[in-house]
Amino acid sequence: MNRFSYSKPQQVSEALQQLSDTGRFIAGGTNLLDLMKENVARPSQLVDINALPLNKIETTQAGGLRIGALVKNSTVAYHPDVERVYPLLAHAILAGASAQLRNMASTGGNLLQRTRCYYFYDVGTPCNKREPGSGCGALEGQNRIHAILGHSEQCIAVHPSDMCVALAALEATVHVSGPSGNRSIPFADFHRLPGDTPHLDTNLAPDEIITAVELPPRGFAENFAYLKLRDRASYAFALVSVAAGLELNGTSIGAARIALGGVAHKPWRCPEVEAALIGKPATEESYRMAADALLQGAVGFEHNRFKIELARRAIVRALSEAAAGVNAQ
Ligand SMILES: Cc1cc2nc3c(=O)[nH]c(=O)nc-3n(C[C@H](O)[C@H](O)[C@H](O)COP(=O)(O)OP(=O)(O)OC[C@H]3O[C@@H](n4cnc5c(N)ncnc54)[C@H](O)[C@@H]3O)c2cc1C
Repeated sequence: MNRFSYSKPQQVSEALQQLSDTGRFIAGGTNLLDLMKENVARPSQLVDINALPLNKIETTQAGGLRIGALVKNSTVAYHPDVERVYPLLAHAILAGASAQLRNMASTGGNLLQRTRCYYFYDVGTPCNKREPGSGCGALEGQNRIHAILGHSEQCIAVHPSDMCVALAALEATVHVSGPSGNRSIPFADFHRLPGDTPHLDTNLAPDEIITAVELPPRGFAENFAYLKLRDRASYAFALVSVAAGLELNGTSIGAARIALGGVAHKPWRCPEVEAALIGKPATEESYRMAADALLQGAVGFEHNRFKIELARRAIVRALSEAAAGVNAQ
């Protein structure tokens, strides 16, 4: 691990002032410290943001919820308003990591966690995300956990978060602060596809800090499902996950949200497919149509082609469970 300086500011403005070009913010440290130990990240400075006043969950004037960037994943998952209005988010968070990790992991850090691609972590191998221009070891290598949608010739890594899949389905907004002021980024625009800049995971500028994530009032609490398919029943990242929310008018679909995890460089959503479900009967046939449309253009690699069919079945199952209301309290 490289030598680094350490500071612990009390205010967001101080934190922004203190951050140098080669420095990094640290929150729970559950991802950044691992990356530092593996020499994947070599910051010269750590700005510890844990004393900043970003650890509240508050109701918004619009009737939604504002979750401070430092609120721990476990606090979010067990917050009464999240359990009541956004159980999809609670289920997604509790499907991830372990209790100990969720107690440390912050909301902002979860959004910015890096891929679990083996080649990204192994500094002895090429990786365009870690070292632009060095190549992609996964393209012709061990690519079982990799992307089937939205990948590029430069990078086939996936975003590993569970929480972010639910936040995508719920159409959250990310609030950020930087030297030139505050701005809000719709969740769909927060993470990026790799294209020819796979080293950039998000549209957050390097000198900006996440201050909060805001949820709109609509939570799909009656008809939702978070389905995570993985190699072990716990403590494993998703091969494929589906966050599904439905509003039903009798036996037909009034509104639908579907976001996929484990399949792309960002949570994968297609609003056109969701719109096409409106007015359709809440039946397996409709869900199959949606799954086929969502996976149109999916391309697998030597070891992960199975993910296309896995995702198709997972979408149908998640929508069926959501419609049946099996998870509602
Ligand atoms: C063994 C293991 C298993 C895991 N399993 C899962 C899983 O199944 N599902 C899942 O979703 N996750 C999983 N995780 C990932 C875990 O959820 C993340 O490591 C965690 O959410 C990161 O949050 P943190 O606060 O610890 O971030 P840190 O490690 O502190 O920071 C991560 C990155 O975010 C930046 N950062 C942090 N906060 C801010 C902010 N407010 N503004 C700007 N930049 C910021 C840091 O500079 C750093 O680059 C697992 C992790 C481990 C170690």
